[in-house]
Amino acid sequence: MSDCLFCRIAAKEIPADLVYEDQQAIAFRDIHPQAPTHVLIIPRRHVSGLDAAGEAEEALLGHLAQVAARLAEQEGLAESGYRVVLNNGPDAGQAVAHLHLHLLGGRKMTWPPG
Ligand code: AMP
Ligand code: ZN
Repeated sequence: MSDCLFCRIAAKEIPADLVYEDQQAIAFRDIHPQAPTHVLIIPRRHVSGLDAAGEAEEALLGHLAQVAARLAEQEGLAESGYRVVLNNGPDAGQAVAHLHLHLLGGRKMTWPPG
C-alpha cells in the first residue's frame, strides 16, 4: 500500500533506524521511544492490524513474536525482561494501520498499562 507509512518504511522509501530484516519482517527503532529500547517489528506485507489477520497470517504472527524475542536478546533484555505490545483499534491507541509489535525494555514497566 503506497500510502501506508510502514509499507513505505519496509520498501525503504522512508528512512528508519533498521535493526533487523528478513524475508517476512523488518524491525526499526520507534521515532518516539517510550523506553530505552523501543523497537517496532512489522510484516513486510501490509496487514492493517490484528483484527485483519486471519488463518493465513498465523505463521507470520508467530514469526513476528520470535523476532521480538530474538531482538530482546540482542538488546540485552533477556534477563531484565521486556514487554511486547500489539495495539489494535482506537481504544488501544493504534495510530498506524499496519500490524506491528512494540518491543519495549530497559526500564521497569507498570501494570496495568494506562
Ligand atoms: P501504534 O500507536 O501502536 O500504532 O504505534 C505506532 C508507533 O509508530 C508509535 O509508537 C510511533 O512513535 C511510531 N512511529 C510513527 N512514525 C514513525 C516513523 N516514521 N519511524 C518510526 N516509528 C514511527
Ligand atoms: Zn502497510
